[in-house]
Amino acid sequence: MEIKVNRVEGTNNNTNNYKKSSQSYECAFCHKKYDTPEQRMECERECSIKKKENERIHKMEERKQKERAMQLEAENDYKMLKNRCAELNQLIRNHNLKYKDNVRFNTEHNQLVRNNSWNTMDDSFTDFCKDFDNFFFKHNYA
Ligand SMILES: [Zn+2]
Repeated sequence: MEIKVNRVEGTNNNTNNYKKSSQSYECAFCHKKYDTPEQRMECERECSIKKKENERIHKMEERKQKERAMQLEAENDYKMLKNRCAELNQLIRNHNLKYKDNVRFNTEHNQLVRNNSWNTMDDSFTDFCKDFDNFFFKHNYA
């Protein structure tokens, strides 16, 4: 005991200081030392609340950071899509000029549509196939 008191209190070793230093109660969270277990319990209660609050704030900040990262990613992705659209438009323009074709992007159906004089045969063939499918369907499953 004497050794511990000398280390804690330095050269001052009167009886009062000896009693105080030999009965210290340490907070499990912040490691502050108290004279009574009640003081320590009060500190631990407050430290526990602070710890939980800090954890809550930390989680919230983490979530916000993830959201910001996601927004940035979405922004870059949107730019990429925009560039691809510009590329596609240029390719369609070049195609139409080169082959005297009439291809365009139908925004309503998100697909390419074609309307020129020399692919009408293809269209009628497609219609024929559809009719055939309908006929086949009606006579086999209806
Ligand atoms: Zn504490």
